[in-house]
Amino acid sequence: MKIAKDSVVRFHYSVAEQGQEALESSHGREPLAILIGQGNIIPGLEAALQDHEAGESFGVDVAPAEAYGERRDGLGQRVPKKHFGTQKLEPGMQVMLQTNFGPRAVTIEKVGMSVVDVDLNHPMAGKALHFEVEIVEVREATAEELQHGHVHGDGGHQH
Ligand code: ZN
Repeated sequence: MKIAKDSVVRFHYSVAEQGQEALESSHGREPLAILIGQGNIIPGLEAALQDHEAGESFGVDVAPAEAYGERRDGLGQRVPKKHFGTQKLEPGMQVMLQTNFGPRAVTIEKVGMSVVDVDLNHPMAGKALHFEVEIVEVREATAEELQHGHVHGDGGHQH
C-alpha cells in the first residue's frame, strides 16, 4: 500500500547537512515509526514519504523552512552555570537544558564565571538537510492510534 494520511510507516533514515556526512541515523537501532498526517516529523520529510511503499528507498533534500525553520535572532539567553551541572562547557557545544517547556537542545555561545550564554535556536535551524530513507513497513493506523495521534506497538508507544 502507498503511504498516505493515516498510514503508519516504519522507516530507517539518515540525515545530513546537504553535502556533508550524516549527523544522525536510525541504522543499528529499531526503525522509526510514525503516524502520517499528525505533524510528528518535519513537514518536508512527511511530504516526501507520501506515495512511497514498503521496500522503497529514496533521498530527499529539505529546505530549512520545511525542516527545523530558519534561525531566529533574539534567542540568546544567559543562564546560571549551575543549571548545567558539572559538565565541562565549551563554545559551540550542544547540550540539553531543562526549561519550562521541557528539555531543549541549546548551543553554548560563551562561558563566564557564573553564567553561560546559550542560543536557543534548534541546532538544525537554518540548515538545508538531506535525508536518505528506507521504508520498512506501511500499514493503516488503528482507530485507537488515530485517537491518540501516535503509533502503538513496534517503534511506538507501548501502553
Ligand atoms: Zn497511545
